[in-house]
Amino acid sequence: MQKRTHLVGEAFSVAPETQVTLMGWVERQRDLGSLVFFRLRDRWGSLQVRVNEGENPGAHAVARKLRAEFVVSVSGVIKLRPEDERKDEPGGDRELVPESIEILGESKTPPFYITDETPSDDTLRMQYRYLDLRRPPMVRIMEIRHRAFFELRRYLDGLGFWEIETPILTKSTPEGARDYLVPSRVQPGRFYALPQSPQLLKQTLMIAGTDRYFQLSRCFRDEDLRADRQPEFTQLDLEMSFVTRDELFEVGEGSMAHIFKEAIGVEVKLPFPVYTYAEVMSRFGTDKPDIRYGCEIRDFSGAFSGTEFRVFASVLEAGGAVKGIFVPGAKPSRKEEDELNAFVRKGGGGGLALLRVQDGNPTGTLAKFVDEQHFKALREAAGEAGDGTFMLMAGEPDALLPVLGQLRVHVAEAFSVPKAGGFQFCWVVDFPLYEPDEETGEPVPMHHPFTSPLEEDIHLLESDPLKVRADSYDMVMNGVELGSGSLRVFNPELQRRILRNLGMTDDVITERFGFLLKAYGYGGPPHRGFALGLDRIIALMAGTSSIRDVIVFPKTTSAQCPLTGAPSEVGDDQLAELKLKLRDGG
Ligand code: ASP
Repeated sequence: MQKRTHLVGEAFSVAPETQVTLMGWVERQRDLGSLVFFRLRDRWGSLQVRVNEGENPGAHAVARKLRAEFVVSVSGVIKLRPEDERKDEPGGDRELVPESIEILGESKTPPFYITDETPSDDTLRMQYRYLDLRRPPMVRIMEIRHRAFFELRRYLDGLGFWEIETPILTKSTPEGARDYLVPSRVQPGRFYALPQSPQLLKQTLMIAGTDRYFQLSRCFRDEDLRADRQPEFTQLDLEMSFVTRDELFEVGEGSMAHIFKEAIGVEVKLPFPVYTYAEVMSRFGTDKPDIRYGCEIRDFSGAFSGTEFRVFASVLEAGGAVKGIFVPGAKPSRKEEDELNAFVRKGGGGGLALLRVQDGNPTGTLAKFVDEQHFKALREAAGEAGDGTFMLMAGEPDALLPVLGQLRVHVAEAFSVPKAGGFQFCWVVDFPLYEPDEETGEPVPMHHPFTSPLEEDIHLLESDPLKVRADSYDMVMNGVELGSGSLRVFNPELQRRILRNLGMTDDVITERFGFLLKAYGYGGPPHRGFALGLDRIIALMAGTSSIRDVIVFPKTTSAQCPLTGAPSEVGDDQLAELKLKLRDGG
């Protein structure tokens, strides 16, 4: 084999007539008889190769044998293409005229061709991932991911953070999902849990005096997978001691601004706005607000006081509320109105009343119940003077919010509400510490049980736990939650109280978290941190909607790897060694 002199991308800028040896994959071979063309591709680009029988019969004979995805070494001279044949793309002004071509590896006909276009069969893409990853859009994603990870390390190192790996074989860390378990051979009947996050160990590192820790950490959660979830994923996991919330936010914001700039050249606006949970729930009906556009939820109860519209009047009398959104420019047709109604019903809402505003006047069925005074009050409450549509619902105030929140996102798409461009980040703070369990109604942690309550709410811990707010926060961008974090409980007695509220006895607490509580008994500093989902962040940076695109070897929604076939069965001898027996049906 010859020595490679240049990468294909480097050959785009060498002087014409330079002698080069390039290596890579063949694409688009065209055999025109005495003339054969193909493109030679590596990670850095692709270049046309022109082989003329008359000029070089040896190379021509080899070129005729080439097929898509053969691996070749091509030695020859870079020539400028005739002016009228030049293409407006990198390397499009030149071609390689070979003196010799060596086939280094042959390829079967690939199940899909290596182009910018995404093959439609996802499982095939995962099964032949090595081919999918050769496609230029995937190369670009891998590069963005690499750059972002590399720059995160550089940025955090500059702030005095240490990158520290925590074990993969560890003890269960409750993050609300099922654990992946690994049986111990030397201690039969005992299991390690793969970390759902390094939460408890990063807290332990703070007790160890590390002060500033981060890790690009792999987390494992055995959940029912949706298209945008993976059983293993990567977080920027970070923890700091002795800092205020604002100091931590500066690190989170700075990290994002740095990697968006370095990996995709985008300037992120700093600082991020901060909203409380209570505020975003009432304004956006969700804890992941998309703040690129308005259509915020407003309370129109006042505007409808004394209304003759029976549905609203009876709800208001019963102490309920009329809430809704105003969608500027929207003129839903009868059919669209039915669809919107179906949409809110599916989301658990009773029904939607629409009031259109056309040429400054209310129209539609509801209009006859809206006199001039009501209309003025409505517009004032909405803070909108133009044409569009009020979309209104009546009911129990808190129950209306999530439905209206979903409706807001839906209509923004459906009626093309103008959005501010780019990436709009914000923080949402002061979440409830607990939420009621869907089945039992008992308090369960909204974040994880190591989150500190707000100082002023600690007295409610036992008497009214669902009222307690936490010193916790989410980072949100364009309506997507990127991650969350909190101040941690660093007082072991307070930690016990919080765990007891979850129905744990002191024995269970000691068995599961004794090591942590013991450690805090030796001087635990106040500390806080967060974890951000890097797969999702890279997907947003790369402009793809699927996190599978940014994970090199992803799994299907049934948690399988089509490339390797994992998970696979194991032999009886392996099970015997682990002292495990499969149950019937296993
Ligand atoms: N460990 C948490 C999570 O994975 C984040 C944190 O509180 O730092 O969501």
